[in-house]
Amino acid sequence: MTTLLAQGDKIRVIAFGAHPDDCDIRAAGTAALFAKAGHTVKFVSVTNGDAGHQSMSGAALAQRRQAEAKESARRLGIEYEVLNNHDGELLPTLDVRREIIRQIRRWNADVVLAPRPNDYHPDHRYTGVLVQDAAYMVVVPDVTPETPPLRKNPVFLYYEDGFQRPNPFRPDIAVSLDDVIDKKIDALDSFVSQFYEWLPWVDGKLADVPKDPAERKAWLKRARDREINAATRASLIKWYGPQKGAAAKYYEAFEICEYGAQPNEARIRQLFPMLH
Ligand SMILES: [Zn+2]
Repeated sequence: MTTLLAQGDKIRVIAFGAHPDDCDIRAAGTAALFAKAGHTVKFVSVTNGDAGHQSMSGAALAQRRQAEAKESARRLGIEYEVLNNHDGELLPTLDVRREIIRQIRRWNADVVLAPRPNDYHPDHRYTGVLVQDAAYMVVVPDVTPETPPLRKNPVFLYYEDGFQRPNPFRPDIAVSLDDVIDKKIDALDSFVSQFYEWLPWVDGKLADVPKDPAERKAWLKRARDREINAATRASLIKWYGPQKGAAAKYYEAFEICEYGAQPNEARIRQLFPMLH
């Protein structure tokens, strides 16, 4: 396996999200599984999250969210970096694209995770566009020449989302989280400003959030208890076999982006050794 990875025998994964907590929502469980097996994962928030609260804002909020991200990383055993772009104002500019290219190159990534460019939030959409724009460019030496290019285009994967147009998400890879769901909830629990304050406030459900720390964590876990659709169940069965695949209760799923390296089944199993 050594020669097939970008660096040594560790699989190197970098995940991008628009806000501190986006990577965690979509991939904290998979990250925990990689970390547990000794592989290396980095989450990057492309904005600093300085507009995501009902009563805080600006630098104070950015600082709080940065601390939450670092705590989540500590709990997961991964790295986390928050880029200093304003929340709610992200645009797919050349400057930010270069930032993303440098991040992927410096991490020497085998796998890159990002949102699809279909989403209700412009920051999410543009994060998707920015990472798509970096795919392939990461191997072009004359682009951001001060950071050495990758020799091989990584595999780029999209996180799951529920948007139906122009096309619904396709769960090419489905990772069972049954062994790490509590670790994922533990990571999400770090984002107090989001899961227990801002997001319930947006939904008009602030009064529903339990006050007790253990109770609110259990409440957070119950919210992840979702019906698994037929396509995802079929993917779980493909990767884990009929028994384990049919029994899986929690999961994260990913779709292969056409602009990165195109992995066959054997390559996917090599890059996602937890699939068995
Ligand atoms: Zn977000």
